[in-house]
Amino acid sequence: MPSHWPIRPDVYEIGVRFTRLPWLTRAYLVTRESPRGLLLIDTGSAGSKERIRGCIQAAGYTPADLQAIVITHWHEDHTGALGALLDAAPHVQAYASPADAAILRAQQPRTIHRASGQLQHAPGKLAPEQVARVHDLAPDDPVLAGWDLRVVPAPGHTPGSIALHSPGRRALFSGDALGGWQRVLFTMMTYDDAGQMAASAQHLLALEFDTLLPGHARSIQDAGVRRPVGQLTWIERAIMQRALGLTLLARV
Ligand SMILES: [Zn+2]
Repeated sequence: MPSHWPIRPDVYEIGVRFTRLPWLTRAYLVTRESPRGLLLIDTGSAGSKERIRGCIQAAGYTPADLQAIVITHWHEDHTGALGALLDAAPHVQAYASPADAAILRAQQPRTIHRASGQLQHAPGKLAPEQVARVHDLAPDDPVLAGWDLRVVPAPGHTPGSIALHSPGRRALFSGDALGGWQRVLFTMMTYDDAGQMAASAQHLLALEFDTLLPGHARSIQDAGVRRPVGQLTWIERAIMQRALGLTLLARV
């Protein structure tokens, strides 16, 4: 199975590391011909750099073309390779919401919640020089100008989770604020605030998009992706909720 593939000519999906598992997290590379450049959304866990580099090369670019790295939220499975990527592209700056950028810069473990209890989780490791290259991303930040990407605050999974909505592509880069697998939409098993996470997911589902590009599992390209129809069977609910701790939203 290749580790990256185009979703459309200017968006590549990359299977990157989820802790030690090789492909369970998703990063996305957005390309632009004029002015030529690349924007990377999330990085995967530590050890994901080569997969991202491989995608950059396959797309016909080099790390020197990278213009910015946008982080959807601070968790290690999305920020673990950030330090290595900043080293590989010394001109690049990283951006996250003010709340999650502060957590990334603090470089301290935090308590995160799940149905079965709490755990301590540390963001991707950054050297002091790299910490200084993590910036607050404003909703209308100039770094996103010309990329057809709009920041949508989606707190709950983490205090400062964001999604990136691309109206022109009718696509939603949802980070972990909204997940998808096959045609089932869900929120994640870990959270900072479960109520906020559910409200954010409902808000995202109201946006206009046909392509869902989530932080885990495969992207979904389907005109019906945000139109909930039908009901999950009790057995689907039982398996997904008990075994995986997922909150199911809809089946499309
Ligand atoms: Zn994640």
